[in-house]
Amino acid sequence: MSNDVSNVDSRKSWIRQPIVVVLGHVDHGKTTLLDKIRGTAVTKKEPGEITQHVGASIVPASVLRKVAEPLKKYFPKVKIEIPGLLFVDTPGHELFSNLRRRGGSVADIAILVVDIMEGFKPQTWESIQILKERKVPFIVAANKIDRIPGWKSNPDQPFLETIRKQSPHIVNRLEELIYRLISQLYEAGFMAERFDRVKDFRTTVAIVPVSAKTGEGVPELLALLTGLVQRFMKKRLVTSDEPGKGVVLEVKEEPGLGTTIDVIIYDGVIHRGDTIVVGGKDKPIVTKVRALLMPRPLQDMRAHEGKFVSVEQVVAATGVKISAPDLDDALAGSPIFVVSSEDKLEEYIKLVREEIESIRIKTDNI
Ligand code: GDP
Repeated sequence: MSNDVSNVDSRKSWIRQPIVVVLGHVDHGKTTLLDKIRGTAVTKKEPGEITQHVGASIVPASVLRKVAEPLKKYFPKVKIEIPGLLFVDTPGHELFSNLRRRGGSVADIAILVVDIMEGFKPQTWESIQILKERKVPFIVAANKIDRIPGWKSNPDQPFLETIRKQSPHIVNRLEELIYRLISQLYEAGFMAERFDRVKDFRTTVAIVPVSAKTGEGVPELLALLTGLVQRFMKKRLVTSDEPGKGVVLEVKEEPGLGTTIDVIIYDGVIHRGDTIVVGGKDKPIVTKVRALLMPRPLQDMRAHEGKFVSVEQVVAATGVKISAPDLDDALAGSPIFVVSSEDKLEEYIKLVREEIESIRIKTDNI
């Protein structure tokens, strides 16, 4: 695993990738947007850079730089200090509810996707409610602008470029549709504005008009996520080579490996052979990491080699598959901690037990 850590003094501590989730109503374009972002990451990355994690994808800093290049004339000051953005691959509520962390969410920031032609729908309101409860800041992707009748598509261009090429009545129509979103966000308790008109990003939600299909507006979406986390979340993103902390996204049977867990490591480091504590159906599970598995790069795929490569260690932020004994009863949504020393084991078990209890209480109350 390599992380670009050129922006910090030593390997002892670094700024990790912010963890980004995508939420919104069904069919509003969450999957298409994630596909578009992943596609951009793959085509624009430097040779050798890894973009695929287990359950997540990285847009590396090099790609963020390239994508932001045409925006320089609008936002000259954006300097990229994070090593990239980590997108959780599965969009929607269910996965998001598994991303719990003490006092909030493992997600650092979210994209709320709204079909601009439809406006808010039931799951849009629900998504906002969940984001509010977990205190996760978000931006709105006002998606499917290419479906505004008469829209002229300019694939992959910044929104601020493509809008200049539309006729005045299309621009007006877009403004009306954005205004509807602003009103709906107000009803949900948020001030909102089109991103280029926001004066204070701490009090106002930014709306970025995009097309997940043509890629228009995606440059601004990525630049805005980067700008916001760098300005308001840098402290939260500092991590160090301490025992890793994560959350279980999914519990999965894998041929030849038995039960494995897909986890997001949001803090610290995890090594092969580490003792871990993870939440189980009846009680916390204490086990040892047998293998840390990352997706095998496409070019190395051979039928007999399997889908994964084993690595010695991974550092935050990473999506990784863990193979270990006794994971059959592991729970999705539970915390996972690397045990720093055997005499602290009881402390970690207590911590996991408490977190699982609090998840249970919350879920029972819904
Ligand atoms: P999800 O349920 O939110 O993940 O939505 P999908 O990504 O599956 O999209 C639902 C449908 O809308 C699919 O047929 C997509 O091709 C289409 N779609 C998504 N984004 C856009 C867009 O920006 N423009 C247009 N024209 N269609 C889109």
